[in-house]
Amino acid sequence: MNAPRRQLCPICRRPLSPAPEAARLRPFCSKRCADIDLHRWLSGGYRVETDETTGSTGDDGGDER
Ligand SMILES: [Zn+2]
Repeated sequence: MNAPRRQLCPICRRPLSPAPEAARLRPFCSKRCADIDLHRWLSGGYRVETDETTGSTGDDGGDER
């Protein structure tokens, strides 16, 4: 398969803007999406939906001081 190189915003699924200013907001397309992501983190309902394979296992937020 030939997947496009363009990265998509994990929040709204829109292709990221190539503008240098937008690069600061990556991996999000806008400040708004970054904010939404932050809120998801804070509310504890965050779910990673990327195809990237992170080399970390055991993501059970358990007894971590
Ligand atoms: Zn977005």
